[in-house]
Amino acid sequence: MALLDRRKFYIDGAWVDPATPNDFAVINPATEQEVAVISLGSQSDVDRAVAAARAAFDDFSQWSVDDRIALLERIRAIYKRRMSEFAEAITLEMGAPKRLSINSQAPVGIGHLDGVLAALKSFEFEGAYLNGDTIRREPIGVCGLITPWNWPMNQIALKVLPALAAGCTMVLKPSELTPLDAMLYAEVLDEAGVPEGVFNLVNGNGPDVGSALSRHPQVDLMSFTGSTRGGSAVAADAAATIKKVALELGGKSPNIVFADADLDVAVPRGVRHVFQNTGQSCNAPTRMLVESSVYDRAVELARETAEAQEVGDPQKDGKHIGPLVSQMHWDKVQGLIQQGIDEGARLVAGGTGKPDGMNAGYFVKPTVFADVTNDMTIAQEEIFGPVICLIPFEGEEEAIRIANDTPYGLAAQVQSGDEARAKRVADRLRAGMVHINGADMDWGSPFGGYKMSGLGREGGRYGLEEFLEVKLISCRS
Ligand code: NDP
Repeated sequence: MALLDRRKFYIDGAWVDPATPNDFAVINPATEQEVAVISLGSQSDVDRAVAAARAAFDDFSQWSVDDRIALLERIRAIYKRRMSEFAEAITLEMGAPKRLSINSQAPVGIGHLDGVLAALKSFEFEGAYLNGDTIRREPIGVCGLITPWNWPMNQIALKVLPALAAGCTMVLKPSELTPLDAMLYAEVLDEAGVPEGVFNLVNGNGPDVGSALSRHPQVDLMSFTGSTRGGSAVAADAAATIKKVALELGGKSPNIVFADADLDVAVPRGVRHVFQNTGQSCNAPTRMLVESSVYDRAVELARETAEAQEVGDPQKDGKHIGPLVSQMHWDKVQGLIQQGIDEGARLVAGGTGKPDGMNAGYFVKPTVFADVTNDMTIAQEEIFGPVICLIPFEGEEEAIRIANDTPYGLAAQVQSGDEARAKRVADRLRAGMVHINGADMDWGSPFGGYKMSGLGREGGRYGLEEFLEVKLISCRS
């Protein structure tokens, strides 16, 4: 395959050269081969993109809701037409297996759009408050959007679409590991007629382009998804200019399995959820807390599920998982697996090293640890690989205590045949999303977490509100 040249940025409605050439190789994590070359931007590129977004704001912020709805509907149609290109790009740049890219990674661009559209169509931008005063909701201004590599389109959709729906203008910096889908998205927005300057894209790394955006006095809001370390850096950079910050960060989500759950269903489902996307999902239920009376059986089921989990070439069809995103990430995951072993957890399946016969590519073994205690590093730190920790507990109180004993609070799962008990436990979990017996969430529901998992929510109406300011209008006639 010929090397793709994607060196340009999308600024003010045109593909332009970076202020200073600074090539960066995009690597296919399944082959370790270079597949594209992009540019890493600098302060000058950010200044140019923010100026374009600022200039476009006065007009775009005055667009009617109907015009914004029509714009989103045009984006929907074009995205749908080109969806297979997104699936291919995501498989190439981050190693998501073909089936995952086609069935999940790319279609989320439609699902989130529908969630935002429904919110926009029903949103009251102006109305009387409880005391009779008039309150108006207005676009917050120029937004800096920083997105990660693990669900690249998911995160772009969850930021760009509500920003457009609100009437904001923006500069997107996708992860430089996965820039290809973001650049395709710029083409979709261009074709849909997003006005010049409303959407801008500058590739680059976090400490340079990301930080320049966060510190920029002309940026009104930063919306970031990524590590807690990155989110904290964005918030610190944004503080001097008092801009609003929305953060979607990591997790170490518990999955509480009570003895009265349907174990044969709940345990394999929980393990497969962790392995999906090679463990690179912020809401993965990576700590499986199991009631001690059924613990041994759960460990056995987890082992069987891990041993049945195939790892393979993302370009092939099948239910296998692909590689991790990068060598650096592979090293991190290997280090944490080794640390689990060193700290005394029982390795039940998988372990360090690559799966047998896989030499090229950042592939890892699906790994199960049992007899983990919640103070171990593998129970506290986000591993972001196909690694699950099983922790035994006695009774409801201990389950809740262990579940909440984490700096994170993104998601939680509860498995029980007693719905009243499951809901009672859900009430006491300090997490933004609780799923009972494997129930999923629908498009438009709020995604986000408590504690160090972030600030604010994404998706639907809650996501739209992040991009709005509140204005009181009092009038004497
Ligand atoms: P990062 O948080 O570093 O990357 C996410 C995005 O933030 C990237 O675009 C990155 O750019 C950018 N970024 C990083 N530092 C800054 C900064 N100081 N200012 C502005 N932007 C910044 O995650 P990593 O790729 O390093 O992954 C490390 C760990 O983070 C993972 O192992 C996982 O635990 C967690 N993570 C969580 C995600 C989630 O969905 N909640 C998503 C991705 C990672 P750049 O790539 O140049 O650093």
